[in-house]
Amino acid sequence: MPQSADVVQSSECRQCCAFCDRVLLPSGCIESRCPYLYLYDDERNGRRYMGCLNKVFKVEIDVELFREAERTRHGYGGVKLSGTPIARCRTAVERAYYGGGDAFECVNPSFFVAPEAEESAAADFDLRNGL
Ligand code: SF4
Ligand code: SF4
Repeated sequence: MPQSADVVQSSECRQCCAFCDRVLLPSGCIESRCPYLYLYDDERNGRRYMGCLNKVFKVEIDVELFREAERTRHGYGGVKLSGTPIARCRTAVERAYYGGGDAFECVNPSFFVAPEAEESAAADFDLRNGL
């Protein structure tokens, strides 16, 4: 299924030559014991996969490969966002290209602010909470 324009807009920035993507870090799903994280065993190959019921990410991740990667210095890293993250999701911005000069000068610094952090801050100020 194609991604909605909103999700693409909030997960990609192409305003300079750095080409940044916001990705979801599955390590956060496990650490936060997110109830939307599911696991299933594939009887055909005997492997265990994990995925997101909320479809914040669409790929199903091989749990063994994930754990192996997490033991390395760089960890497993991120997967492409396919939905809008909620407050408990852990995201990061990955930059595709590095270079000097105006062509690589960031003109969209707000892209580095996690949308889930904004959502959380907005919720803190929601007056309905006090009613
Ligand atoms: S909702 Fe967020 S934290 Fe929970 S499983 Fe999905 S991506 Fe991970
Ligand atoms: S460095 Fe800034 S302007 Fe350039 S692609 Fe990344 S977020 Fe966008």
